Amino acid sequence: MSALSTSDAPLDILAIAAHRDDVEQTCGGTLLKMAQRGRRTGILDLTQGEMGTRGTAEDRAREAEEAAKILRVSWRQALDIPDGRVENTFENRLKVAHVIREQRPRVVILPYWKGRHPDHYTASTLGYEACFLAGLAKLDFSAASVDAGATKLPPHRPFKIIYATLYYDVRPTFVVDITELFETRFQALMAYKSQFSDQEAGKDLFPAQAEIRARIEAMARFYGLLGGVTYAEPFLQKEVGLVEDLTLIPVKSI
Ligand SMILES: [Zn+2]
Repeated sequence: MSALSTSDAPLDILAIAAHRDDVEQTCGGTLLKMAQRGRRTGILDLTQGEMGTRGTAEDRAREAEEAAKILRVSWRQALDIPDGRVENTFENRLKVAHVIREQRPRVVILPYWKGRHPDHYTASTLGYEACFLAGLAKLDFSAASVDAGATKLPPHRPFKIIYATLYYDVRPTFVVDITELFETRFQALMAYKSQFSDQEAGKDLFPAQAEIRARIEAMARFYGLLGGVTYAEPFLQKEVGLVEDLTLIPVKSI
């Protein structure tokens, strides 16, 4: 199941999202940037994409693996939560908590907790509560279909949780400059050929590839502008920022 797993070292950053291709759209450039800096990154997709109008879950698995290679992700896995029915149940929280104990990420990226698609905002709360559960020493995994060794994994809670806000119109608390990585991130998204290549099936529902590129570029430009760079990805943190040296705070005021 853990395709692309190259070692047992903890992940530095784990991005959790409802659907395969969500991470590519909301924070793929940031993951690639971190990988280029030597960080171990990972992606947990909660569903396998079996409800998609185009392609099968198997197509999407292959495409997700290809996208992960482009983004230089060290670890990627998809859970078996039903697509279109991501629910914040105890069993689902345990499944995610198990991954958090296994991969021991320092930073977790979750979707923002509001949005149009119920799977997206539910994944946010589910992910947050799973991070909390994963730190409870006496957590009992027997209610979930995770392997028996799960109980033996030591508790772990990520140090930092941030929210990828691209799918929702909310002012981010910070953006990550992906100017140098924009093209590669776009290629990672285009690895989902069953979804994004121009084709007959569902063409009233899906925009043409040129239109997708224009939209993605406009969003990255907008958030880039907020950070004084060309392209960026938006994030929100609940905590306040902590500053050591006022002369080093980035982003021009005036
Ligand atoms: Zn999605």
